[in-house]
Amino acid sequence: MRLTSALAPIVDFVFPPRCPLCGDPVAIHGGLCLGCWGKLVVPSGTSCTLCQRPMGEAHGAEAELVCAPCMADPPKHAGIAAATLYNEPSRRLVLSLKHGRRIGLVPMMARMMIARLPPLEGEWQVVPVPLHRWRLMQRGFNQSAMLAQAIARSTGQHLLVDALVRTKATPSLGGLNRKARARTLSGAITAAPSRLSRLAGANVLLVDDVMTSGATTGACMTALRKAKVAQVRIACFARVLDEALDTAGANGPADFTLMEA
Ligand SMILES: [Zn+2]
Ligand SMILES: [Zn+2]
Repeated sequence: MRLTSALAPIVDFVFPPRCPLCGDPVAIHGGLCLGCWGKLVVPSGTSCTLCQRPMGEAHGAEAELVCAPCMADPPKHAGIAAATLYNEPSRRLVLSLKHGRRIGLVPMMARMMIARLPPLEGEWQVVPVPLHRWRLMQRGFNQSAMLAQAIARSTGQHLLVDALVRTKATPSLGGLNRKARARTLSGAITAAPSRLSRLAGANVLLVDDVMTSGATTGACMTALRKAKVAQVRIACFARVLDEALDTAGANGPADFTLMEA
């Protein structure tokens, strides 16, 4: 750590830090400029505590807000913490990490995710949403695992990077509606047999870069519940509000392509 900061002036002289979104000069590597920062939408205090859906100002005074869909069909997880709501700048950050290999974005994205998490009391296992090994070989890294690693490190919790395994290679979920996504992913994710003893009775923080319909995290939840975990909280960098997804037909918005992979 000390070495890095000692070297920073030299590194900065050679590679002046630039905003990863617009290329403007910034003060530190891996940070956004003020303009781009302002375009990210952080869920406000008036969001549903379970799913982060923004709620009307009328509910502003209540501490424990739960939206109507969550009341009608209570989720099986113990809450989602989303660093941002999915929009063009957050999409570009996710894509530059995932497909542009901008690994330098991980610390900033992880910090934003941690800022939205309620305090993790007791011991937690930080578990990334898994990639199928073919996809892992193609891409060379699992972006959710990198975020999970950074979160585990800064919160002092345990990283259980291989707790979940994708046993079935699934096609891109882009353009599929909620039901089709859930069907595609059914049975595609299981808990690793070697990790069952660590998972039994554990508090799990499930980490995903983008959470769309919840089909992927839902398949993870099913596997984790089978492994008898105590509770699961979900941390994602960008949360896609599902209203947009419900209108996605067979040729859904191009935006959704590549997101849940
Ligand atoms: Zn910028
Ligand atoms: Zn909700």
